[in-house]
Amino acid sequence: MKAVQMVKAGAEPELRDVPKPTPGPGQVLVKVTAAGACHSDDFVLNAPEGAFPYPLPMTLGHEGVGVIAELGQGVSTVSEGTAVAIYGPWGCGVCHFCSQGLENYCSRAADLQITPPGLGHDGAMAEYVVVDDPRHLVPIGDLDPATTVPLTDAGLTPYHAIKASLSKLLGGTTAVVIGSGGLGHVAIQMLRHLTPARVIALDVTQEKLDFAKQVGAHEAVLSDADAVENVRKITGKDGATAVFDFVGYQPTINTAMGVVGTMGDVTIVGLGDGKAAASVGFWSQPYEVSVRTPYWGARAELIEVLDLARDGVLDVAVERFSLDDGVAAYRKLAANDLRGRAVVVP
Ligand code: NAD
Ligand code: ZN
Repeated sequence: MKAVQMVKAGAEPELRDVPKPTPGPGQVLVKVTAAGACHSDDFVLNAPEGAFPYPLPMTLGHEGVGVIAELGQGVSTVSEGTAVAIYGPWGCGVCHFCSQGLENYCSRAADLQITPPGLGHDGAMAEYVVVDDPRHLVPIGDLDPATTVPLTDAGLTPYHAIKASLSKLLGGTTAVVIGSGGLGHVAIQMLRHLTPARVIALDVTQEKLDFAKQVGAHEAVLSDADAVENVRKITGKDGATAVFDFVGYQPTINTAMGVVGTMGDVTIVGLGDGKAAASVGFWSQPYEVSVRTPYWGARAELIEVLDLARDGVLDVAVERFSLDDGVAAYRKLAANDLRGRAVVVP
């Protein structure tokens, strides 16, 4: 079968022919109907050699949707032919975090060498993918695979991030979204649907600012050296109640800290260059600001996000590519030339 694989650190992925996998005991084989390309893939592909000691070559794709094709020995809770989304941040299933569905924070995953598909072992950017346990599958019914697959990360991650600030985002408050890309454009829609907050989006080109407004931002502001001043012109002295940074470089973290108001939340989702740091201390930000760095989301939250999609409140923008053009999808992502998410449809 065809697969888009990371072959070498610091190099472009490659389209390669690999054997079709077979599910082991307890596992499930999924025939992929859509796989998403995430900026985190780009981060991993370009990280220095050894930073992510994945066994290479490795099939990319931590966003996957497909149809159950074959059940491993002993699997009885799911059936062949069911359309499913894959929950990516796998954990051990039994530790305290996993018991709450927060497998993204499994305390034993590292020790047990449990990794997400596409981020440590073969992922979904192929014709077939093996899923380790049926609990990592959520039925999607008749949702469209291509517009649904980004919800497994570009939907789940902002949803988990926003949920933590929901109780603060009341009438008259402001939420700021930095970076209106794959995750950011879904975040804007979730904020509009789940809260009465005024949403201000930031990005680096007029095209992206127009896109942010099309998906629901009330205001769009260029993310430049004047961004803090321009956002504060809108929020007034109170500043923003919640800031979600989907970029995570030092300049955007500085912007986030500059626009947040007293008792506000700063949530840094973007990985940036892996080096940026929030300057935290008594004189660095308003009183009682909370700073968070959430990773992905809980299993139950993926079910909630798919329910939002079923309610028709999410309009996920996707650019479709064939598996043969999977490498081109990553090129376009790296060039920051996408509107929404790049999705490979095998
Ligand atoms: P993306 O490339 O689709 O979107 C990034 C957006 O940020 C683009 O619209 C781009 O124009 C914009 N941007 C770039 N520089 C900017 C700046 N200085 N100011 C404002 N906007 C700027 O990326 P994505 O797939 O949405 O991922 C976003 C980030 O989130 C990445 O760093 C990714 O690695 C990270 N991520 C984190 C998690 C997590 O669990 N924490 C999960 C998925 C992705
Ligand atoms: Zn666990």
